[in-house]
Amino acid sequence: MSLKIENNLIVGAEIELSPNSSERCDDIELIVIHCISLPAGEYNNNYPKDLFLNKLDLSIHPSFETLKNLKVSSHLLINRDGSFQQFVPFDKCAWHAGQSSFEGKEDCNKFSIGIELEGTVNESFTDKQYTILNEIIGLLRREYPVKNIVGHSEIAVGRKKDPGPYFEWKRIND
Ligand SMILES: [Zn+2]
Repeated sequence: MSLKIENNLIVGAEIELSPNSSERCDDIELIVIHCISLPAGEYNNNYPKDLFLNKLDLSIHPSFETLKNLKVSSHLLINRDGSFQQFVPFDKCAWHAGQSSFEGKEDCNKFSIGIELEGTVNESFTDKQYTILNEIIGLLRREYPVKNIVGHSEIAVGRKKDPGPYFEWKRIND
């Protein structure tokens, strides 16, 4: 598959625009890798997507109570089967990093692209996820001045653990 970007969206991606975004003033220089599953460790549902669209029904699971009033998003979500959705155009900031800093610069949302992998910090990711993630990273590097790729845990030290010890950095082309 050869991916391309038009109007800051990946052509052919399932696009579901999230209200959780803001104007971007800084250059994109960072890609931040995350993982998410709702409830943790359960896959093949629409709950992460619903969360990013502010449509998650919090009554579905007790653990969802902690998500009340949370306004978050990522640019991309890569599912276990390698399919992916885009929620925020790359020229806008998605709300994925929270309080964060990279090389002394605060608020990484301003200068990063956030990619969520459907998964948990306790389990391996799928081959299909690595394949499409590498294609997307290649695409983003061609399109934007990306300098580094980091995990959420590296920019929110002590606060975030994702993508966790099962994420195999050596499989990422950088
Ligand atoms: Zn994260």
